[in-house]
Amino acid sequence: SIKPLVAGNWKMNGLKADLAIAAEVARGYDAALKPAVDLAICPPASLLFAATAALIGSRIATGGQDCSTQGSGAFTGEVSAAMLADAGASFCITGHSERRTLHGETNATVKAKAEAAQKALLVPIVCVGETKDEREAGKALAIVKKQLRGSVPDGATAATLVVAYEPVWAIGTGLTPTAADVAEMHEAIRIELGRLLGKQAAAGVRLLYGGSVKPSNATELMGVPHVDGALVGGASLKAEEFLAIARAC
Ligand code: 13P
Repeated sequence: SIKPLVAGNWKMNGLKADLAIAAEVARGYDAALKPAVDLAICPPASLLFAATAALIGSRIATGGQDCSTQGSGAFTGEVSAAMLADAGASFCITGHSERRTLHGETNATVKAKAEAAQKALLVPIVCVGETKDEREAGKALAIVKKQLRGSVPDGATAATLVVAYEPVWAIGTGLTPTAADVAEMHEAIRIELGRLLGKQAAAGVRLLYGGSVKPSNATELMGVPHVDGALVGGASLKAEEFLAIARAC
């Protein structure tokens, strides 16, 4: 069976003083929790090095929230996957809906970023998810499958890929899909990954659910078949809530 992963996406939140949140998570990641669930914290790039240092010995991983498609060079403002790895990251979120929407990232961009992450030995957390209009039009499954086909790196395996399903309309809104809708989507994602990567590789890829995950809904969402953890935004900024979500896995 797959060991779940709960990853916190701090988004553009967090100053040095907020490393105390990471330290508090580390204190709560006790002997009961460690064998049950993997944890990762994805702080802003400015805090990645310090966050990794603050988590040494905790077995909590860190990750970036985005990376460049490029290796190095004249790309002012960009951060390469190798830089994230050098700062201590193990993961990198790629293709978060805020990147797709606010920064015009296409499936091809997301695939190039996920490949750049893999090249630097980071595990990309490739994000997919439909908008409200797409769900209401009955297109959610088709959109997500298309995103997977366009943004998942060829040849990825369970060890080199995580996929996060984040319905755009559920992010930061307090809204969540029903357990049945999450089940339908995650099963479809597993099947599509099987077509892309082969059934054996796809069977072990961790499929995270993201979008308004909170302690109050985590037990239900984490209990859905093919949900192998969570990608948590707002609640990851509160150590006790993040730990409660981890305990629900
Ligand atoms: P919220 O948990 O704040 O809804 O954010 C989800 C998300 O976008 C995580 O990447």
